[in-house]
Parts: sequence; structure tokens; C-alpha cells
Amino acid sequence: MKFITQRFKIATKLSLYVLLIGIIPLIVFSWISYDNAQQVIVRQVSQNSQELLKQQKRYLELILTNLESLITNITSLDDVQAALQADADTQGTYAELATKAKIGYILSGYILSLQDLISIDLFSVEGAHYHVGDTLDFSEVDEETLDRLFSAALDAENDVLWSGIEPNVNANSTHHQVITIARMIRNIDGENLEERPIGMLLINYSIESFYDTFAQVELGDDAYMMVLDANRRLVYHPDRSKIGSSVSNALLARFEGDSGTLRTRIEGEPMFIAYDRSALSDWYLISFIPERSLMREANRIRNFASLTVTIFLVFVLWLALTMTRDIAQPINRITEHFKQIQQGHTDWGMRLPEERTDEIGELNRWFNNFLDSLIAKRQAEEALMRAKEQAEAASRAKGLFLANMSHEIRTPMNGIIGMTELALDTELTNQQRDFLGTIKTSAHSLLTLINDILDLSKIESGKLELIEESFHLREMIGLLMKSLALGAYAKNVEILFFIDPDVPDALIGDSGRLRQILINLMGNALKFTESGEVVLRVRKETTAARCQRLHFSVTDTGIGIAPEKQDVIFEMFSQADVSTTRRYGGSGLGLTISARLVELMHGRIWVESEVGNGSVFQFTAEFGCNEDVTLADPISTSFACLHFLVAEHNRTQGAFVAQMLTHLGAECCVVEHGEDVLNALSAADAPADGYRVILLDAGLSGPDSYVTAQKLREKGFDPERIVMMLKAERSNEWEKRCSDLGVRHTITKPFDDASLRAVIADCLAEHPKLPADVKAGLPSDEPPTQRPLAILLAEDNTTNQKVATLLLQRQGHNVRVARNGIEAVALWQQEDFDVILMDVQMPELDGLEATTQIRATENGKHIPIIALTAHAMKGDSDRCMAAGMNGYISKPLQFDKLIEVLAWASEEDGSAMKAEFWT
Ligand code: ADP
Repeated sequence: MKFITQRFKIATKLSLYVLLIGIIPLIVFSWISYDNAQQVIVRQVSQNSQELLKQQKRYLELILTNLESLITNITSLDDVQAALQADADTQGTYAELATKAKIGYILSGYILSLQDLISIDLFSVEGAHYHVGDTLDFSEVDEETLDRLFSAALDAENDVLWSGIEPNVNANSTHHQVITIARMIRNIDGENLEERPIGMLLINYSIESFYDTFAQVELGDDAYMMVLDANRRLVYHPDRSKIGSSVSNALLARFEGDSGTLRTRIEGEPMFIAYDRSALSDWYLISFIPERSLMREANRIRNFASLTVTIFLVFVLWLALTMTRDIAQPINRITEHFKQIQQGHTDWGMRLPEERTDEIGELNRWFNNFLDSLIAKRQAEEALMRAKEQAEAASRAKGLFLANMSHEIRTPMNGIIGMTELALDTELTNQQRDFLGTIKTSAHSLLTLINDILDLSKIESGKLELIEESFHLREMIGLLMKSLALGAYAKNVEILFFIDPDVPDALIGDSGRLRQILINLMGNALKFTESGEVVLRVRKETTAARCQRLHFSVTDTGIGIAPEKQDVIFEMFSQADVSTTRRYGGSGLGLTISARLVELMHGRIWVESEVGNGSVFQFTAEFGCNEDVTLADPISTSFACLHFLVAEHNRTQGAFVAQMLTHLGAECCVVEHGEDVLNALSAADAPADGYRVILLDAGLSGPDSYVTAQKLREKGFDPERIVMMLKAERSNEWEKRCSDLGVRHTITKPFDDASLRAVIADCLAEHPKLPADVKAGLPSDEPPTQRPLAILLAEDNTTNQKVATLLLQRQGHNVRVARNGIEAVALWQQEDFDVILMDVQMPELDGLEATTQIRATENGKHIPIIALTAHAMKGDSDRCMAAGMNGYISKPLQFDKLIEVLAWASEEDGSAMKAEFWT
């Protein structure tokens, strides 16, 4: 049923149901009726035909009984007996004639008593023949038939031999075939008292009379009857020509008992047969009724049932069609409309008829309602879409505005920062220096804010993209930490970092953006921490082929963040506590930008924090591995087995230093106070050959580092082997004090393992154990040498002209200024330059156009052209590159970048500029 419910259409289903509940029972019922009718008919016909046969048998036996009585009468006559015993030698005598006349007279009487007798013949054993019958000429006798009959009568078990159909013994009779009954006449021998045959009585009965009698029997259409004699010859058959012929025993063999019925095929036609045997004569009466005629009534029932089923089928078909038209078609129409709605090409004005009051009408009404609500929804959606487009347009306009704003603000910022730096290099009073310092700090804060806003607009417009460049992680983080250290120490907050030794140094990725994230996290940590420490840790998370996944964490001991705020702070403009904003300041953009950047680096960012107990901001990021650069690390083995003493008041820092040194193979003892240093020297577990180097934290207490160093010296420890770990803010003063004590080696905190390695290597330089190649592995402090360049500066803004010119001249370069593109092209044609610094936005002829003209006219010699642009949006670099520029530097000018670019330009050999300048 489920199969039907799920697979077929409604009309098909309904037809199947009607078939199941209507037609199949009808067929079954008809079949049963037909079968019953068949059985009833067969039973009835069986009874009828048997009854009929019995009647016919009775009739037959009546005739035969009459004949038997006749025979008995005749044979019992004394005259007949005497005639048969007459001597043969009386032949031809009067006595014989008299006997003949007498017998003839007697027999004539009998022949008249029974209808349809052909003849009565008496044959004596001696050869006499007495005859009455249809012919008077009985002289000719069929001897063969006579002999056969004689023998049969003689052998017969009964008195009467019902011989059946036989050729007429009287050859001259007109009836050649007759039904013959014979009886042997016997006499008791007087001497021996034995019966002896004296003659035979032969009665010939008419076949026609039989035929006429049985032909009248009414058996029904096509049915017929047969009578067989004891020799199984046909005594009666509706086809006269067959009378006398023998019948096969095959059929008779199937008869059981004296009467019965059976069904079989006769000449291929199914036939119902009834039979009855006459015990008197051993004759059979058999009726044949073709089943075809027998089943005529049953077939009528069958035909009627078939007709009913057919009519019902037609009705079902009609019902299915009506259903299709009435139910399925409207449903199909609705389905079709739904399809069109789905495919988006429906006629929205179309409505389905609602006149019907049935379920289909209801369905149509609801479909129309659905269409109405869909139209309303579409209209609302269209309105929404228009609003969205307007909002997007507004957002684009906002993005453009932000970009323009950043350009507009960056240009004067360029002037402010550059001029402040130049002014700070001149002779100033303390107050003036202080004022200018404040201007510089404020300008940098403003620039940071502008950069954040610009980044935000890039994020919103999906244009924030990372660059791929090679960088050294330790160097980048070391510089970053140093730049943050002053602020941290000013607040009396320790700032430390530790990079796991197995973290690769040469990475590929966007170092600028990584720096931005770290500055933001470290900046926040320092901002929200009043005392304690801020620690940056880097470790390797996983390594895949050419890909490093690093884990960064910034731990602080600051105010912490409430759990419910920990997710919100990563959303735009969100701050954990508005009151803290007033106290600490901030725009709420930093973490949003960081989170987006981390996402671009295929990592994630999260925070673990507890109010009052500090926070741990963590993020992961993926970087490429620069396999071309392998870190030479010859020193790690050379520190092996050397003993170092580390005195550091900050436990974390102490642990870090110990970890760095241990990784380099050294043995390390860490103490926290000045007196511990002195004790450690004389302690029992001190190394036998003493500590090779003592690292003293400048912030030691009890006694302080200065006193401790002095005492060490007094104890005979070579101050050359002391490394003083200084804090940036007081390094000048401390360096003086150290040199007074003879402590030559200092390192400024925070430092990384490379710097520590370098200073220790320096310290051990005079030591005989220090391998010669250690020095070779150390970074050189020599400033890069560069030849003076002839620089063409194309810049319309006078402040920018001034700043750039002064900066470049201080580097020893010659600068020629062009105020627009036309002047730049003209100057380039007149003079020889090593490099052109080209502002992109200029009146008359912009930088891109000017570059195109230069590239079009330059003859063989390729001059490097570097774009200066305040537009730091995506696509700017592509446009510059398309115009034929070699790279670009964004404004305000980053001095180190400028130097790097000029260094490249001075050695430019026509090759393409490095990708890292396209930033
Ligand atoms: P900003 O610091 O400019 O307000 P951020 O997006 O960097 O914006 O930080 C959002 C907010 O998250 C901060 O205002 C502050 O409430 C909270 N926050 C960030 N870092 C820390 C931290 N280390 N300790 C406590 N609160 C922090």
C-alpha cells in the first residue's frame, strides 16, 4: 500500500483503489458463481442423463423381455420340439410338408404378436429350417452366420443369446442387418436322461424400429446416445451408417460398474458421458453430451460477469479521467505555478479560480493568498534590496571618504612629524625640546589612530590583504620590544619576551601586520597594567610542509576583563568598560583589526582573563618558512660546560635568561638578590673553576647591583666578565657607573637570545676558550655605506618638499625638486638622475602620467622611479606598477624604508624591484 501511496499520481491511485475494492472482488465473485454453476449443471446433467439412460434401459429391457417370453413360448411348444426331432428321412414327404405348414402357422401367430420382428427361424440339428418373416424365399441361408450363431447359442451361459446386431441369416431378406436373439432348444434324451440340442430358435428384430425408438430420445443440443450389444457393436447410433460397427474398448475400459458418468475428450472435444449396462443382455446404453452445450448456461454467467467487469473497468477509467480533470489537474496546475515561482518566471498577475466550494476551491484560495503574500514579501525585499544598495553605496562613499580623509590628514602629518624631527635635531632649550617631544608623541598617536581608521575602512570594504615577505622574527620582535620598553619602565612595569629556541627565525609573511597585532596587544597590556609585568612569549604550535603555525601570548598583571566582556571586546568599537575608556583612552578598534589580521593569517585570537588578576591574550598565525636562510648557530656548542651566574630580581626574566643560556649549552645558577651573588660564589655547589660570566640585573636590591659589582671586584672577580643587564630609561647613567667599576659589557632589556649570545661572546672574547669563529657569527654594527645620489623629487606640497629634501640631504644626497609632473619630465630630460621620487597626486600632470611619459621616451637607460603616495588603498600599487614605476613608499615617509629603497636604487641594474617595496 505504501508503494502505491508514494509512487503513483492521484488518478492512478484512485483507479487502483477502485480496482482493488471493486473489480477484484467482482472477478472473484463471478468466478465462484461460474464455477458453482458449472458444478450444479454437471451434477444436474449427470442425474438427468443417468435417469434418461435408465428409462431407455427399462424400455430396452421391456422389448428384450418380450422377445425372451416369445422365445420361451415358442421353444416350449411340443409341436416345435417334435418338428425339430423329426427324422431326416421324412424329408420331401407329406409329413414334412404338414409339419412345415403347422410350424409356419404357429410362428406366424407369434410374429404378429410382436411388432418390429423381421423373422422367426427354427433350425433343426438335422438341417430342417422353418421360417416366417419378411421374405418367403428362405431357401438361401448365410451358413457362416448361422454356424457362428449356433456355436454361440450352444456355448451361451444363459438360455437366451442376446447376440445383438448381426447379418441376416436369410440372404434373400431385405433387412441385411438385424438384431438377432437366439436360443438353443434342447431335449432330454430318454435313455441317458441327458439334454441334447435339437435345434435353434433365431429371432431377427428390426434395426429401424430401434433406431426410430432411440432417435426420439431428447438429450439436448448436440448430445446423442449409443446402444452397444454384448459384442460391443453399435446397435443404435444417430448416424445410421455406423450401426453394426465395433466400438473401441478404450472408452469402455474407463467405465466403472454398471452405470456412471465421466468427462473426457472425444475427437478433441470435451464430452460429458453417462453409461448404463443392461444386466439382462450385457448391452450398454451410453449418452454423449458435449460440454460446450452443457456449459452454455454457465458460460452465459461467465459472459455476463465479464461484461460487468468490463463495464466496471470502463467506469474506473472514466472515474480516473474525471478525477484527473477534477482533482489532479488543479493540483498539477498549482504545482506548475509553484515550479514557475521557484524558477523565477511566474506571472504574478495570474490567479486561480475560487468558485469551487470543495477542497480544491479552498486550495486555490490559499494559493492566491500565498501569491499575494509572496508579492508583498517581494516588494518588501525589493525595498530592502534598494535600502541595502543605498547603504552599500553609503558605505562605499564612507570608505572613499575615509581614504580621502586619511590622505588629507597624512599629508600634513608628514609635515608635522618630519619638521618636528628636524627641529629636535637643532639646538633647543629643555622646554622647547619637551614641547617638541610632546608634539612628536601626539602626532604619532594621531597617525596610529588614522592608520586604524584606514585599516577599518579596508576591513569593511574587504580590501585588507596581507603581503608576503621574508623577515626575521627575533629581530622584528626585539626592535618592537625595545620601542615599547621605555613606556613600560616609565610605569615601572617589567617588559619581557621569550621566543622558544625551536621557533624558526626566517619566516615569510606580513611582518608589518604581525607587528601591528603585537603592538596592539602589548600596548593594551601595558595600558591596563599598573604594576607587575607584561610578557610576550612565542612558541611553535605545529609544523607542516613549508608552513609554521606559531602561538603568541601576551600576559599581563593588569586589571583583567570580566568573563561576559571577553568576546565583546573583539567586536568593532567595543570596550570592556566605558569608564576604563575614560581613564585609559582608546578607540576600541585595535582588537577588531587584530582579530581580522589574525584571521587573514589563518589563525585565531582569544583571551583568558580574570578581573584583577591580569589577562592572557593569545593568537595563532601561519607563516611560510624561508628555507633559503638557515641560522648559523656556532656559539651554542661553544658555551657548552661553561658556568654562568644570573642575578635578576624579576623571576620571570631570570628564568628566561637561564633558559636562553641553558639552550646554548651553558650551566646556569639564578639568584634574586645582591647578597645571593656573593654567597653563590663561595657556596659549596659553586663550580670548581668558578663562574665564567656573571650577569647582573641593574635593579638588584640588598645590596644593589653597583655595590654587588664592587664587592665582586674586591673579591677578585674580573669585572670584564660581568654583564650588566640595564633598563633602557637609565642606560646612560648606568653605563657611566659601570665603566667606573670596569664593567665593560652591558645589555639593555628587553633582549632576545641573539643579543645575549652576542654580549656573552664579546665578554668571553679575550678568554682563551672562546672559538675564533664566534666573532664571525655576530652581527656587524657598521652602518651601511652608500654613495651620494642625484635624486629628482616630484612633489607639489611645499612642506613635504622641505621635509623630504632635508632628510635626503642629511643622508648626503643631492635633491632637485619638481612641483608637478610636467616639471619632473622636463628636469629628467635636462639632467642626469640616479632615482626619481614621484608623488602620485600632482596638479597639471600626475605622477602616473609623468612616469608613463618618461618610460615612453627613455632611451636604454632605465631610471628607478619610486612612487610617494598617501593613498594606501588596494590597487594603488597595481596602478603604479602599470605606469612603469619600480615601487612605492607610503606617506608619511618611513625613513628607514626610504633609505632601503635608495640603497637599492644606487645599485639598480635594470632588474625588477623587490616585491617588498610594493607595500
Ligand atoms: P582600545 O584599547 O583602543 O580601546 P581595543 O580593541 O584594543 O581598543 O581593546 C578593546 C577593549 O578591550 C579595551 O577598551 C579594554 O576594555 C579591553 N582590553 C583590551 N586589552 C586589555 C587588557 N590587556 N587588559 C584589560 N582590558 C583589556
